Amino acid sequence: MNMPLKIQKSAGRGKAMLEHPRLVCIETTNYCNAKCNFCPNEVLERGKKTMSDDLYEKIIDDCTRFPLREIEPFMNGEPFMDKQIIPRMELIRRRLPNTKLRLYTNANIMFPDKIDQLIGLGIDHLFVSLNTTDPDEYERVMKIPLQRTLDNLQYLTDPVRKHKVANKITFRMARHKTMPLAEQDDFLEFCKDHKVRPFIVGMFNYKGFIETPLPVPNYPCANITRLDILSNGKVTLCCMDQDGEYELGDVSTHSVLEVHNAARAREYREFHRTGRRTEIEPCDVCNVCSPSLSHMPPLKTMRFALESRHYFMKHKPRGRKAPLAAPMEAPIAS
Ligand code: SF4
Ligand code: SF4
Repeated sequence: MNMPLKIQKSAGRGKAMLEHPRLVCIETTNYCNAKCNFCPNEVLERGKKTMSDDLYEKIIDDCTRFPLREIEPFMNGEPFMDKQIIPRMELIRRRLPNTKLRLYTNANIMFPDKIDQLIGLGIDHLFVSLNTTDPDEYERVMKIPLQRTLDNLQYLTDPVRKHKVANKITFRMARHKTMPLAEQDDFLEFCKDHKVRPFIVGMFNYKGFIETPLPVPNYPCANITRLDILSNGKVTLCCMDQDGEYELGDVSTHSVLEVHNAARAREYREFHRTGRRTEIEPCDVCNVCSPSLSHMPPLKTMRFALESRHYFMKHKPRGRKAPLAAPMEAPIAS
């Protein structure tokens, strides 16, 4: 049965006052070739699925009906496990020429022939989840061979093609709380050698699913202004709600804008924007800390901007950071 959605209407002039998502993420597949020990992909309760072409095209069509800033054909899965990922990105470029297209991949099966097909597609930002350059650690964390990823990255970052594949390329490291500084420095050096942007980010707790040391902030979460669509068409609260336990609607029966403006999604935004994030499940236990500072009165925006700046300075969720439990140093010889 379709979930009834109550859509917000305007207070005046008879026109609907609909809020647009700034970002739409489409999980074209939730199959993944890796098994990262910090990712819930392996334990998804909803099973594995690649999105149908009809549903994908319907979503893109919905997205042409409002000014969408950013789109990511990716969520809980590896995009190159979807055999249609290239034509799907071509469709985005044709139908949404002014929307920034971002892709995340572990690059392990992004072989040279696939990289060649990305050339000229108009990808704005390609993120590679590399996590570490230590072969043993890589295989322990991701359960895939590092050398194959490195071969693909060597091909990707060759100066003859790098800028033709994407305007920007970032290699990403998910930093666990005991990661040694030497490992983080090796990663930074690797990025420098390959002339790509590095991005180190601490782990988040998937609404309490894994243990991380970051506290739960109280300012609005950046994820309330995006729309995350699972491969079955259900709209999940956010990318941290991996099984859609807190479902906002279904884009196979409603439009993207309808779901984003339905009562449930508006309720979440309202709780966050009135400083009550910790009063609503599952945000009350989730430590995702990028702030959302839009759609609020100026004083509130200023207050949350200060709070989020203080949080970032105090807890350093991004960047190189000393491990919590540093390995014991060898005693100094006297
Ligand atoms: S590569 Fe990405 S989707 Fe796949 S298991 Fe790792 S973190 Fe999850
Ligand atoms: S606080 Fe966490 S659970 Fe809530 S919307 Fe943000 S990322 Fe999702």
